[in-house]
Amino acid sequence: MLGVAVDAPQHSGLDRLLDYLAERPRPRGSLVRVPLGRREVLGLVWSSTEREAEPAQGGAVALRNVVEAFDALPALPPAWCDLLDFAAGYYQRSLGELALAVLPPELRRIDAAGLARRLARIDKRLAKAQPARDEPSLPTPSIEQAAVLAALAASETPATTLLHGGTGSGKTEIYLREAARALDAGRQALVLVPEINLTPQLEARFAERFPDRRVVALHSALTPAQRLGHWLLALRGDADLVLGTRLAVFTPLARCGLIVVDEEHDPSYKQQEGARYSARDLAVARGRIEGVPVLLGSATPSIETWHNALPAAQGGAGRYRRLAMPGRIGGAAWPRVRLIDMGRLPKAQTRASPIAEPLRDALRERLARGEQSLVLLNRRGYAPVLHCADCGWKSACPHCSAWRVFHRHDRTLRCHHCGLTQRVPRACEQCGNADIRPLGRGTEKLEEQLAGLLPEARIGRIDADTAKCAGALAADLARVHAGEVDVLVGTQMIAKGHDFRRVTLVAAIDPDGALFGSDFRGPERLFALLMQAAGRAGRDAQQAAGAEMWVQTWHPGHALYGALKAHDFEAFATSLLTERRGAGLPPYRHLALLRADARTQELAQAWLAAVAEAAGDLPGSEEVQCYPPVPLTVQRVADVERAQMLVESASRPALQRFLAAWNPVLQTRRAESRGVLRWAVDVDPVAI
Ligand code: ADP
Ligand code: ZN
Ligand code: ZN
Repeated sequence: MLGVAVDAPQHSGLDRLLDYLAERPRPRGSLVRVPLGRREVLGLVWSSTEREAEPAQGGAVALRNVVEAFDALPALPPAWCDLLDFAAGYYQRSLGELALAVLPPELRRIDAAGLARRLARIDKRLAKAQPARDEPSLPTPSIEQAAVLAALAASETPATTLLHGGTGSGKTEIYLREAARALDAGRQALVLVPEINLTPQLEARFAERFPDRRVVALHSALTPAQRLGHWLLALRGDADLVLGTRLAVFTPLARCGLIVVDEEHDPSYKQQEGARYSARDLAVARGRIEGVPVLLGSATPSIETWHNALPAAQGGAGRYRRLAMPGRIGGAAWPRVRLIDMGRLPKAQTRASPIAEPLRDALRERLARGEQSLVLLNRRGYAPVLHCADCGWKSACPHCSAWRVFHRHDRTLRCHHCGLTQRVPRACEQCGNADIRPLGRGTEKLEEQLAGLLPEARIGRIDADTAKCAGALAADLARVHAGEVDVLVGTQMIAKGHDFRRVTLVAAIDPDGALFGSDFRGPERLFALLMQAAGRAGRDAQQAAGAEMWVQTWHPGHALYGALKAHDFEAFATSLLTERRGAGLPPYRHLALLRADARTQELAQAWLAAVAEAAGDLPGSEEVQCYPPVPLTVQRVADVERAQMLVESASRPALQRFLAAWNPVLQTRRAESRGVLRWAVDVDPVAI
């Protein structure tokens, strides 16, 4: 008899293993197809017993047979199964829901014969492939790189290491060397990046460094067939290097030897729906399970990672090792940071132009010298809201508690939460006044204003709107690399990872918002973004001396900008840790969010309050505190009201015990409630 995990969410009641009959036992991690109701679905064998099923009698339901097993495929490795067990438990999901969410979707659509055919095709291709033999030329490691490599090579037990090095300090070179070491030892390496679409350069670098090895990518932009193909190559050990986004942390590897997480602080490592896992945290867990080293790289580590890498003597957790590369390759200077105090400029000037005069002059200088500039504004669209000065009407979304954003190029109002898109009305929807105006500024408007300010400049823009269709982003980036753009305007998309060689000025327009937002991670995020943006300037050592980062701010005295100016992450992290300790926030406390969606806000909050009440004497509850329910920042989306409740504990195990015991209570209460549409637990939320 086989215990099989199938795709059933935690709250469906089918979240445990289902029993099926089979001719013979199969190892844990074998893929099978099983009947479920009237359908046939993909299942994952999790337990297997020789025991004959007892003959059905009384009210018992007769067990059904497995339809077929995917025998051409090896079972998923034991370490992979352990990782899945851990992740399902930790993030409070059913095993089947998580497993089926992380396996290639194509597996659900093919049968055993189809898979066998596909594997045969792969074998044929592999036999034909001619490995190249050009030896790539390796750069001599810098003194800092050599020290890091020596420390990594000297470690006897596999450990998690924070590689703390600024942008352009040569971290990727360390990944390449460590990957080479793993490959030489006959192992595979897994490299995670936050957004593979933005980093085709990384793939190219690995392919170039390892011409006789097979490099595969795994991310959501692949076709289902490609994704399955790459996954199979990884599972069978045919691919030596796997590069991917957060979902790739679940790639089964026949002989895993190294896990790298680049830009480990990036919030996109956290899955925001379904199973809300953190790929960064799971990479660390996987390293422990597989017994392999994990390398976390960042210029601005997350505060949690920083705390884990700080020795106990310095108030840290002492869990990771920290290796630092403070300098830039070639000894180039870091860009000079210049703060423009917007409060000291004449009002007429700040109102008339988005760009202060000194910054405008600096942009003109770059233009005259043929250098490039980046202008960062973290808001897309033309203007965040349309407004009628006569009656006060604003372009609210009828379905969400949010404004509809004005997009000028196609004259639409778009809600960025529910997607509602309508043509801009000719006149105020409330009073008929024809003179409705945009309030505030997004990237589209900034692009237009910069064109007015610098008529001779070639201006480009990159944000989620321009990057919508496949290939557009790559083409836009190629134009920047080719020097066809003088000034590039964009959202945080332009700050990440790109190795632009001719950029010598980066400007952030009005980044203050994150300093005073409701999310306690706002400042941490902003600091990372600005440091990363600054890192885009002066990547070419010959131009680094003149590289500058400009920030237009109303709060130039803020400690964050001080640390940015001094290029001092450590001072910033120390002040954040002190704040977090005082406020009882991570990494000193552990958080989970319980979210409920309902038809009305009252119903959502009442349900949360009731389940908190019902949790009074669950295991772990004496060490766990439930805060009162509150609406989400964007309270209503697509006519659904959203509320959440913060659950907090000083002890991670107590919180875990509590959540596990709470889960069945939540399921029962949901079944009994009429108004609550769905609920979800988010463990270690990245935004609250
Ligand atoms: P990071 O990943 O920290 O941003 P990279 O590894 O991309 O840094 O290095 C920045 C640049 O310096 C790249 O163009 C890289 O090819 C180059 N580089 C890295 N290490 C060396 C070295 N030891 N000698 C010469 N150039 C190097
Ligand atoms: Zn009006
Ligand atoms: Zn909406």
